Amino acid sequence: MTIRPRRPCAHPGCQQWAVIGSYCAVHAAEWQEKLKARRAEFARRADEERAPADDRGYTFAWRKARKAWIIRHPICEICGKPATDVDHITPHRGDRKLFWDTNNWQSLCHECHSRKSYGERRRKGKKQPEADPEMGVMIIP
Ligand SMILES: [Zn+2]
Ligand SMILES: [Zn+2]
Repeated sequence: MTIRPRRPCAHPGCQQWAVIGSYCAVHAAEWQEKLKARRAEFARRADEERAPADDRGYTFAWRKARKAWIIRHPICEICGKPATDVDHITPHRGDRKLFWDTNNWQSLCHECHSRKSYGERRRKGKKQPEADPEMGVMIIP
């Protein structure tokens, strides 16, 4: 059996002895949490970069165009709040021409956009939850 020399916790300013790795029990737990959060963030970003929606035209180019559009049209067309999303007035349904036609674009806030997308799905009679690649959220009708 080896007796390891005690070391103070590596957390700045902590007076406890290290018991797990270089940290005391409290800061080891904190560190684990931080690590987990960082991993989750990393996984999320990797997911975004994989962008499964490319076939519908939501590409990097779209993200760039959307950003530029919102800078020029910063107000939600429906409620007047700051816009966060660019909506296709007529759903493009994968039609690239319609997709890139700026006459078919309008700025919406996230709330109004969600409500509009929700309505569109309801009219289509879809019951399955569907990922909306434009917003990166799940809409559950
Ligand atoms: Zn500590
Ligand atoms: Zn709005």
